[in-house]
Amino acid sequence: MSAVLQRQTTLAVVYSRLKTSSLMSPNHEWLACMTASWCAGQSALPDYMGLEPDQFNKLKNNYFQDSFLPELAPSGIYNDFDRMLEREDLINLLTRYSKANTLEINWVIGIIVAGCLGNDHLWQDLGLWSRSQLTALLHFNFPELAAKNSMDMKWKKFLYKQLCEEEGLYVCRAPSCNVCIDYAKCYGPEE
Ligand code: SF4
Repeated sequence: MSAVLQRQTTLAVVYSRLKTSSLMSPNHEWLACMTASWCAGQSALPDYMGLEPDQFNKLKNNYFQDSFLPELAPSGIYNDFDRMLEREDLINLLTRYSKANTLEINWVIGIIVAGCLGNDHLWQDLGLWSRSQLTALLHFNFPELAAKNSMDMKWKKFLYKQLCEEEGLYVCRAPSCNVCIDYAKCYGPEE
């Protein structure tokens, strides 16, 4: 069996195991996808999926208690938050726009922020299965923030642009996106 096929099989097996319990919320489904990808070594999420160990254990015990989950990332990616100076700012941004203050949203926030450390599109770094899943997740948990992305900017670019604007930093070289030579980098297809 090829390595790719083996990874896909692992992902499908883990996902079906994670889904054996009834879904408790839309986030449960997205968390199951991200967890299955992480278990199959298919995301940029580091150890504990980027959560604090205590948060990770609560996630396991609440949603995936029937499944064995490793603690260290099967991909070998380790927590590298030392190089992420914007980590607290991203957490604060998402927390401020969360529609509720629940354990579940805090897991989602921690995982999204860890995914921002990756080098691919955010939905890929998170181990979601499509960009539309990420779009739905963001609209569900952070409706006001997600609605601000009315021009359908790439999600990671959009989050970082919010940070810049909140700090009053306008690092873009063009006066508006429509006339910017980097338009495709910010708005091109995210597939
Ligand atoms: S398209 Fe250009 S102006 Fe718009 S956010 Fe991207 S870099 Fe900035």
